[in-house]
Amino acid sequence: MLENKPYRVLLYYKYVHIENPDEFAAQHLAFCKEIGLKGRILVANEGINGTVSGTIEQTNIYMETMKKDPLFEGIVFKIDEADGHTFRKMHVRPRPELVNLSLEDDINPLELTGKYLEPKEFFEQMQQEDTIVLDARNTYEFDLGHFRGAIRPDVETFRDLPQWVRENKEMLEGKKILTYCTGGIRCEKFSGWLVREGFEDVGQLHGGIATYGKDPEVQGELWDGQLYVFDERIAVPVNRKEHVIVGKDHFTGEPCERYVNCANPECNKQIICSEENEHKHLRGCTHECRVHPRNRYVKEHGLTEEEVAERLQLLEKEEVTQ
Ligand SMILES: [Zn+2]
Repeated sequence: MLENKPYRVLLYYKYVHIENPDEFAAQHLAFCKEIGLKGRILVANEGINGTVSGTIEQTNIYMETMKKDPLFEGIVFKIDEADGHTFRKMHVRPRPELVNLSLEDDINPLELTGKYLEPKEFFEQMQQEDTIVLDARNTYEFDLGHFRGAIRPDVETFRDLPQWVRENKEMLEGKKILTYCTGGIRCEKFSGWLVREGFEDVGQLHGGIATYGKDPEVQGELWDGQLYVFDERIAVPVNRKEHVIVGKDHFTGEPCERYVNCANPECNKQIICSEENEHKHLRGCTHECRVHPRNRYVKEHGLTEEEVAERLQLLEKEEVTQ
């Protein structure tokens, strides 16, 4: 399945007690830099979570070293191929937790978590009656791609999920609940929390969407759109049998899978939009963002005040005629 591109991207996590995250992070950063990796790794008392990119040799050294460390025994790496690094820098950051559900009494997935479902099992159970597939990611991730028929909790961030579940309890009660996320780390905690809340039948996609898309049998079936990833690639394919576009242009609602950040540095919201609409709207998600004095698009393109005014006028005309 690997096509022999020169670089690889590793996605991995492990819930395990790390005694001193600050010290560990500093040492781990030095180690990653020495190998030549780039990426972002989080370290907490509850474990490690990372995405890194490097050459085949660099990533092999990293994986072998990690697997040999008794602390990370059994760690699973999801491997993607790439033409180059997918990060610009190497960061290893100590954090209070890997995944934040804003719980007073946090979940330890090593003690309590939902049933692990392998891709084939998830694929089959997802199609059964009385089953609810719950997306455990942020809405901007969902909007680029998701499992067909999955529920999109209307929450700004992952930590608001428990509140959403409590408000929508009726819809979920008595149902089999399947959760999924990018690599599986968020579901470990979220599915455990669902069990603690009293939901009896809770399953989680083991290894996440990243693993699901690589399963030779399932081949990403029933996934629509693309998978949002937290590196420079932004979007990667999942379904290798068919490609349905679910992303919608922020301005026109047309099918689109291109993400950009709003050019207003104070907004910076991620929006899906075509290249054409990016230019038309000065990459601003709202009028306020388009006319913001520090609009990045305007700077990047060296537009004069007259040119900006002209562009806004065109847009206004267009909106009137529509
Ligand atoms: Zn904006």
